[in-house]
This record gives sequence, structure tokens and C-alpha cells, in this order.
Amino acid sequence: MNREQVLQNDNQYIMHTYGRLPLVPDHASGSTIWDKDGKKYIDFTSGIGVNAFGYSDEGWVKAVFDQASKYQHVCNYYYCEPASELAEFLVKSSGLCNVFFGNSGAEANEGAIKLARKYSFDKYGEGRATIVTLHQSFHGRTVTTLAATGQDVFHQYFFPFTEGFKYCDAGDLEQLKAACTPDVCAVMMELVQGEGGVNILPMEYVQAVREFCDQNDILLILDEVQTGMGRTGKVFAFQNYGILPDICTVAKGIAGGLPMGAFISGEKTKDTLGASMHGTTFGSNPVCAAAACYVTSRLTDDFMDSVNRKGQLISDKIASAGIDNVVSVRHLGMMIGIQVKSSPKDVLKKAFDAGLLVLTAGKDVVRLLPPLNISMGEIDEGLSILLEALK
Ligand SMILES: *Cc1c(COP(=O)(O)O)cnc(C)c1O
Repeated sequence: MNREQVLQNDNQYIMHTYGRLPLVPDHASGSTIWDKDGKKYIDFTSGIGVNAFGYSDEGWVKAVFDQASKYQHVCNYYYCEPASELAEFLVKSSGLCNVFFGNSGAEANEGAIKLARKYSFDKYGEGRATIVTLHQSFHGRTVTTLAATGQDVFHQYFFPFTEGFKYCDAGDLEQLKAACTPDVCAVMMELVQGEGGVNILPMEYVQAVREFCDQNDILLILDEVQTGMGRTGKVFAFQNYGILPDICTVAKGIAGGLPMGAFISGEKTKDTLGASMHGTTFGSNPVCAAAACYVTSRLTDDFMDSVNRKGQLISDKIASAGIDNVVSVRHLGMMIGIQVKSSPKDVLKKAFDAGLLVLTAGKDVVRLLPPLNISMGEIDEGLSILLEALK
């Protein structure tokens, strides 16, 4: 099919739930995509933080190919070697206790919510199932995770939503304490709100929330679907804050481009879910798990340093370019937000036309999530387009 045929087919046969840009990829390598007409794009998005090691990374392709050649799926009634290896990494690198594997961020968050509610039910009985989340958060698209998402625009059309969610302003400790009435079993948050605008939560606030939750046996669930797996310059964003969550969810970048999500439990909830209490057909998929083992094998301390250096470099270059349209630049590792005066969608469109892929977030932010291993050459090439588009 040529480009026009793909656009036409998509338009006719796929539901119109995405406002797509007219890019039809042909092939890609590193952090660069070529479309059907040979036009080149530098990718500062990683497919929303998914392609952690860019496109067609040799080791990643080999890991996927090797596992697919052995066996591609076994049901969860049997054991899965790559998943057991991945779980060991997740537990040892997080300092938490055990893992449940699913297929997406929303599904990981659903599981975390079930885990928290069951813990509280076992210990305190009914009536303590409310979960406090933050305004500007994003937790997924299922009926429950939409309810968990603290943005009114997501609470439309699909009524009735799952009960038992309350929202507070990020950074306001007193508001959060007041929201934590006796019916509350958990607080759930992103440490850097991704979709909400690359809002980096303050250190003192996060540490105070941790302490308050500990004092009241309220579980702290961290949604690390976007921030996890090296994105913020540590394997987990909470390692930038010197805290440990009770439950942590990951997805997006974990398998470097294949669908996988997980929730990781700390000490309190590690035995809360027993046989037949939770499950999913594709969970622990061997090919996805093998891909994730490859991704995690590369998240060494040296590599994390390079992620931090590149994030700093990109942010500094944008901030020091003296562009009037740029209000501020914030970043944690390679999760970068550029607050602009103009419409961020206009910047995205200009960059796209000139051959650079970027994202937006919140009302006024251009968001960058480059592949963690992006080359210096691709950074320079992308930045020169971006600086023009920002003007
Ligand atoms: C993307 C995202 C989700 C949803 O993940 P899906 O894989 O799309 O279900 C949930 N939480 C956060 C923080 C995200 O960035």
C-alpha cells in the first residue's frame, strides 16, 4: 500500500479515536523513522516512552527473535523462564517483594487498585476502599482508571464510573491529609505527571506523603507507567526521592516496544492476592518478557548516568536558546517538559513538518521522551528543528 491507501483504509476501517498526524512509517533505526515517501523524522517521543532503546536495536531484535523461535506463549498454568528472570530484576532493583505481569499501564493500575482494596478489606473490612489521587494525573482508559484519573475531561460519557476516588492538588500536603478520611485505603500518584504536563512533584511533599501514609496504614501506590524503567535517570523515579512505595506500577518502556505492564508489591501486600484472585491471559508473555529482560539488562548505573547527562543537555540547550516563546524547561532524566506561551500543538505541527516528532502534555507543554539511547547526532539534529519550531 502507498501512503494515501493507508490513510484511506485507516479512515474507513479504524475507529476515529486518535487525531493522527499523516506519518506512515516505512522503516526505522535508532531514533530515526523514514516514512513511505522517504521523508525522515527524528523521534523525540519513543512512541510515548515505549521504545526505550529506539528502533531495531540489534540486541532487542535478537532477544525477541530468539524467544519467538523457542516458544511464543504458554498459559499461566505453567512456568515462564523469561518472566521469572524479569521479576527477579524488578524486585531486586526496586527493593520491593514480588510482581504480577499484565499487558498495559491501565491494567497494571487496575491490579494495583485491586491489591490495595483487598489489603484493606482483609485488615479492616468493608468501607475502607477509597483511593486519593491527584489533579492533572493520568492513570489509564479503563472505567476504573478513568475514575482514578484526576481530570474532569476524562469523567464523561461512560457513566457509571467506579466509585471510591477522591482528588487533591499535587503538592498540597494539608489538602491530602484532609482528604484521607477513615474510608481511605490508598494514595495513588505519578512522581512526574506525564500526560498532565511533566509536573515534577516536590521532594519534601513526596517524602511527607510517604510518612503520613505510613502513620495511617494508607498504602502509597506509585504509577510509574511513564516514569519507570530508566526514564527519569533511575530505574524507578522513586529512587530520585529516597522513598519506597507500597505498590508500584510500570508499563510503557519496560519491554522496549512490546505490550507489557506490571505491578510490584512491597512487604505489606505481598501475600494479599492468592490463587485465582487475579489473572490475565497474555500476562507474563515469554516474548514480551524476553524483550524486557534485554531492556533491563542495559539499565546499568553508567547507562543511567548517560540518560541524566542527555536530559540535562537537551534541557540546557533549549533553556539557553533565549526563545521568547519558552516560559520554562523542566526535566527529570529524559522526561522533559517545555512550557510555552503559544499553543504546544502548533509547535508539534511545525516540528512535524520539519521532520521531528514531539509530544504535548497538559495545556501549555511540549513534552520530549527521546529513546534512552538516542545518539548525540540525533539529539543535535532534533534540537535544531525544535528550536526553530519553538520560535
Ligand atoms: C500511559 C499511562 C498509563 C496508561 O497506560 P496504557 O498502557 O495506555 O494503558 C497510565 N499511567 C500513566 C502515568 C501513563 O503515562
